[in-house]
Amino acid sequence: MNYMLKKRLIALIFPTRCPVCSKVIFPEEEFCAECRCSLTVYCGNHSIKGAESFTAAFEYNEKISPAIILLKRGIKGNAAYAFGKALAAVLNNRDISQKIDILIPVPLYKSDKRKRGFNQAELIAKEIGRILKIDVSTDIVEKIRKTNPQKTLTKKERRVNLKDAFEAAMPDKIKGKRILLIDDVCTTGSTLTEITGILRQNGAAEVHCAVCCKTPDIKKEVDINEQSR
Ligand SMILES: [Zn+2]
Repeated sequence: MNYMLKKRLIALIFPTRCPVCSKVIFPEEEFCAECRCSLTVYCGNHSIKGAESFTAAFEYNEKISPAIILLKRGIKGNAAYAFGKALAAVLNNRDISQKIDILIPVPLYKSDKRKRGFNQAELIAKEIGRILKIDVSTDIVEKIRKTNPQKTLTKKERRVNLKDAFEAAMPDKIKGKRILLIDDVCTTGSTLTEITGILRQNGAAEVHCAVCCKTPDIKKEVDINEQSR
């Protein structure tokens, strides 16, 4: 059955809700009009070492955090659809979507995925893949060991924490390919940098990175602090 028809039929029983404020919206909509206006579109210039481009749909802030929390809770709700559609539109606007052969969501460690029941990066990648008609691959890169939560670590500690945590499980599928790496939130970019390095070492022709939300760049925070002095 057509994806949107299925979404409309489901909405007859379980109305589609705005992933930020829970207001009932049309099944085609990502967010309600009010929330859409209040979200901060990302316009920073963050880059990932070794990657051709970095794209983010929104700046991470208090306003959008309920949608990220909903996304991390799983397949129910409209968060994966909303973020996937929003990010696909930005990738189209930036002319990146035409350059991609394959989408790779940032993998979770097997037992973490089993415990959670899903990988949120995979949910977004599937939405983007459906919209942009690009294949999604979840077995080309694997996370091969458990890592500590990145949240409390410094940028340097994050890199050490992630060292050798990922592996190219199918190097032959990487060679010569233009790859778009997808994650939900990017803070310092350590995870994306680590995986980009692996894809490069295995002969990827191009690596592009895309996330739903980017936390404000540290430099920007400093600038704001300096201005308020
Ligand atoms: Zn809303």
